Amino acid sequence: MTTPILPTKEVKKAATAAPYNTKVARFFDSLKENKLTGTRCVKCKATYCPPRADCNKCMSSEVEWFELSGRGKLIAYTVVYVSPETWSKCVPYAVALIELEEGPKILAALRDVKQEDIKVGMPVRVVYFETPEGHTFYGFTKA
Ligand SMILES: [Zn+2]
Repeated sequence: MTTPILPTKEVKKAATAAPYNTKVARFFDSLKENKLTGTRCVKCKATYCPPRADCNKCMSSEVEWFELSGRGKLIAYTVVYVSPETWSKCVPYAVALIELEEGPKILAALRDVKQEDIKVGMPVRVVYFETPEGHTFYGFTKA
């Protein structure tokens, strides 16, 4: 069966909840350019995507932005059959934990992948889509 993974028209409320007015708003600006960006701690080199304004490991606020390749591998996933009301028209859909090439792990929806084709360890790549409000958001698909 094919999972109708997060069709654009169904993400309306979730998209409006995105933190566009934060220290890491630049992340959403880069998504508009179809670029996946993160932050790297200048002191301990820990990497974050989605970005963090402060390092979670050494608490430094000295971070630098960098662009990620958008490639990674699927390390875990779950298929959601009972969702929050906002996503109820999307079920079933898959939410995956992706380990990006540069190290950070990111949670994202899997898009356009048949449920039986989802395999832990499979290579994935980022895809971008536009929400009804005109915001660009990310998901991942089979590479
Ligand atoms: Zn650090």
